[in-house]
Amino acid sequence: MNSIPADPSMKHDTVRTEDLEVLMANAMKRGATSVTALKASDIPILDHLADKCREPRCSNYGLSRSCPPHVAGPAAMKADLLSYSVAVFFRIEVPSHGLYSDGQRELFHLMHEVASAIEHDALGMGYSRAKAFAGGSCKEIFCHDHLDCQYLSGQGVCRHADVARPSMSGFGVHVAGLMAKAGWAMTTTRDGEPVSSVSGLVLIG
Ligand code: SF4
Repeated sequence: MNSIPADPSMKHDTVRTEDLEVLMANAMKRGATSVTALKASDIPILDHLADKCREPRCSNYGLSRSCPPHVAGPAAMKADLLSYSVAVFFRIEVPSHGLYSDGQRELFHLMHEVASAIEHDALGMGYSRAKAFAGGSCKEIFCHDHLDCQYLSGQGVCRHADVARPSMSGFGVHVAGLMAKAGWAMTTTRDGEPVSSVSGLVLIG
């Protein structure tokens, strides 16, 4: 499936449908396999999903500025969403075994690249509050060869500020709910092989 045309009936306030279509087309060019626009009010936030970062404790809990407890969390996300009308949501499909292979880090890297690129494009269009979210731990994806997150250690700025984005999990974003809103199956098969996906979300405003 290619990019889904923005629904002109959606109330984007100051976000123009033509701009959304450019953002979505660019996301596809950069590696997304599906992309759509969703109402910000349709983004499900569940507090207990963010709690799962802590209990059972994720091995990357607290290791970067992009993960709990160093992110604002679900309550702040719910409040923040009230000031947005629309978001771009994308997924990158891969054979399911790819999620657990040596190429996993590259896949998550691509996810962050696509999310940050949409944000960058939106900022360039004048949407100064564009804000991207991805998945996984940026410590694991980008700084696995370093002992510490450079930002948290106080030794400098984020080493990968251009591309590393916070994980949706730490904000309680219910990715399965987003997938359902988009009309996408969490898993499917292609040529008899199971296919899964990773995804990212960019608030536009
Ligand atoms: S320095 Fe590395 S671990 Fe810290 S926020 Fe940036 S990418 Fe993440």
